[in-house]
Amino acid sequence: MLLINRLIPRPKGLSMSLMPEMSEYELMQAAVDYVPKSEHPTNKVAAALGGLEYNGTPFSLVETNYWPKAIAKKIGRDIRIGNASGTVHAETACLLATIGNGQANRTSMYVTDLPCPNCVKNMAESGVRKLYIDHKGFTKDFALRRGGHFENMSLRICEKANIGVYKIFRKEKRIETILEIQKGFSPVNIKPSCVSVVHKKLSRKKFRDLIEQEKEFYEGRPFAMALETSPGKIYNTISAEAHPCPGYTEQTIEQGDEKYSTILQPLNRVMMRAVRNGHMISPHYIYSSHVPTARELVDMVGMLGVTKLTIGDVTKSRDAGGLQALKQLVDAKIITIKT
Ligand SMILES: [Zn+2]
Repeated sequence: MLLINRLIPRPKGLSMSLMPEMSEYELMQAAVDYVPKSEHPTNKVAAALGGLEYNGTPFSLVETNYWPKAIAKKIGRDIRIGNASGTVHAETACLLATIGNGQANRTSMYVTDLPCPNCVKNMAESGVRKLYIDHKGFTKDFALRRGGHFENMSLRICEKANIGVYKIFRKEKRIETILEIQKGFSPVNIKPSCVSVVHKKLSRKKFRDLIEQEKEFYEGRPFAMALETSPGKIYNTISAEAHPCPGYTEQTIEQGDEKYSTILQPLNRVMMRAVRNGHMISPHYIYSSHVPTARELVDMVGMLGVTKLTIGDVTKSRDAGGLQALKQLVDAKIITIKT
């Protein structure tokens, strides 16, 4: 469930750099207070995000980890979707909830638990500037089990992407710096996702033409494409191929284990591009040349409410988990495929 909550009204036009100093304890407290709303029986997690709307009004929103309604109802909470859990993580839920509301670029994220590498990759790709973690998150069971991924990957991704990381003690009103932002440093991002302005009217035929155009551009490499609506109601194509997350290059990519790597997949990058800018994605015009990963499918169904997906080759996927997830979602009539 999404709660858009203007927790702390501020005057318009206030610069982003001032916001965390005014609000970090309250935003962290908002996330902590929201934790019981998580329907997860054991890993209850919440995250809050503070940023600015288009007109400069500050916004903040809070999310928990949750099962997309369609998945909970038609498949069940106990079943994995391919090789992913059926839940959308709280941090990624926050990011995706900004779509159409406000841009995630230069926001601050507040989390109750140590974030996994996938969520941190999404933060890096969507331009999150600061990550605050509640001090209690470091000592929970969850942290003891998953702390390795945080230390070995999540933190390193933050460092490369120049995301400041802070441990927050709410009651004592104290903040400990884990990773400081390096001033004047911008992370390498060799191939940013590409955007081309289209036009004011959209049709299936036009969408097909755009796919063909992008296919030529990517020369056989897997890619994904969506159409975003900017505030001026002009449709833009956003397309992307798999790419190391900001701060990494092909030479420095890290393969943590089979679960995580520092590569971002095409459809995920397309979604994070819309998140970065706060633009809407049209749920009926999403294309992927190959079958998306299980994680991408769950996030897309959960946050974008996608029920239709156009796929170039339904037999190809990064891994077998994606193929299996797609079959589950199609069999449960959650999404229909167009080829
Ligand atoms: Zn996560």
